[in-house]
Amino acid sequence: MIPAEVPNLVAGEERPAAGGEWLEKLRPSDGTLLCRLARSGPEDAADAVAAARASQADWGARTAVERGDAVRSIAELLRSRRDEASELVAAETGKALALAQAEVDAAVEMGLFVAGEGRRSYGRTTTASMPHRTVLTLRRPVGVAALLVSFNTPLPNVAWKAFPSIFCGNASVLKPSEHTPASAWWFGRLCLEAGLPAGVLNVVQGLGPEVGQPLVDDPRVDLVSFTGSAATGRVVAEAAGRRLAKTVLELGGKNALVVCDDADLDRAVEWTIASAFSNAGQRCAAASRIVVFDGVYETFRERLAAATRELDEIGPVISEASMRRILDAVASARDHGATVACGGIRVGDRGWHVAPTVLEGVASDAGISCEELFGPVAALYRVDGFDEAVTLVNDSPYGLTAAIHTASIHRAMRFAERVSAGVVVVNAGTHGSEPHMGFGGVKQSGTGWKEAGVEALDVYSETQYVNVVIDPALA
Ligand code: NAD
Repeated sequence: MIPAEVPNLVAGEERPAAGGEWLEKLRPSDGTLLCRLARSGPEDAADAVAAARASQADWGARTAVERGDAVRSIAELLRSRRDEASELVAAETGKALALAQAEVDAAVEMGLFVAGEGRRSYGRTTTASMPHRTVLTLRRPVGVAALLVSFNTPLPNVAWKAFPSIFCGNASVLKPSEHTPASAWWFGRLCLEAGLPAGVLNVVQGLGPEVGQPLVDDPRVDLVSFTGSAATGRVVAEAAGRRLAKTVLELGGKNALVVCDDADLDRAVEWTIASAFSNAGQRCAAASRIVVFDGVYETFRERLAAATRELDEIGPVISEASMRRILDAVASARDHGATVACGGIRVGDRGWHVAPTVLEGVASDAGISCEELFGPVAALYRVDGFDEAVTLVNDSPYGLTAAIHTASIHRAMRFAERVSAGVVVVNAGTHGSEPHMGFGGVKQSGTGWKEAGVEALDVYSETQYVNVVIDPALA
């Protein structure tokens, strides 16, 4: 199913990188070779942008209904290939098949939601001071979009960008993570099979600085839509900013889950585990800071540690480098006085498995409290009450999601009022966004745009105000 060599997909054709080089992609589950991927460079990026440019005008001229139908055909074809897609994702990420299946379903749902916009993407009419003037808004494509994505949930990451981009009439160049080349290649071919014209979605494989950066720098790229780390986002935003390209960044999080003294503790433990450790903690919305009221701290800590020790396989992290970085960060926290309530070690010696880890005694300004680890590591913080909890939650450079467990509606709503986060959850996990819900954070978690939801249409289209003035004498 996954070819030995995963090529680029440009103007509907599979092509090796212009320089003829390949990179190795290893299986996270055991470190063996899965495939090689095209090691693309500036020439490949330029070819893909040219292909996108050449197809955009015709695609953008189709009606919204037609483009919505095209997105629906892709989503339906994806649904019919659920098994194939999830096996492929499981192989390249090492995650459990059931999780990969759920991700395929989420990608399908995003497609179906966006497809419906073909008959529902409403504009506005508004008043005017001049008589006989009618004012309305129309959506126009942005043009050519560079879609740069992370590896963590490969198909939803692609779906959240490619579906609205296609629907809004853009032509795109997708640059998947070098860690998940196969699902993006497969998705690109699926789009062609579903009838999307060649060139409307191109895929270039390779390393960010080698092929992602030239896309960001290319003056023919009108929109840069990036999902990844704040560190890379800064580099991308600087480059795109120099040429004033429309730039949308969805970045990391250091998300907090607060457990109040009136919380249902069993439920809080369950959601902490799901938030901190599902997908091996490789979620932008993962909970990595667990803020617990003094009165229930000991009980919660015991129950959380016991439940964490009983967890089944949580899956490997994506690469050996990632595993080493996570274990080093835990070791450094320990050197600075943290204690490990459970985990903190590599599991086995094949593949890149990190045991789900709970830390205690970490200072709120320690590196591990501020920097996103993107791994299965959560730290517990003890607070004396609500105000201290809110202060701690907000004491972060990020502001993506936040959750609170409490029986009090007053506490819950006051929490939502006071925390700086794009998504707030009461009595559940820090993740779990759905296709119709706008998703995005504040502070260094992003640029303020939302992905998914109807808000995604604002990213991938421009709103044009049309003013029509008539002369009643000529009627
Ligand atoms: P990353 O920043 O290392 O890479 C993201 C993408 O950018 C990859 O495709 C990479 O090849 C590319 N890239 C790297 N350097 C580049 C450059 N100079 N120019 C252009 N592209 C470049 O991130 P990652 O490790 O793949 O993903 C993890 C990060 O993604 C975490 O911070 C996570 O929170 C974030 N994330 C955010 C969301 C969200 O919606 N907010 C969703 C998923 C992941």
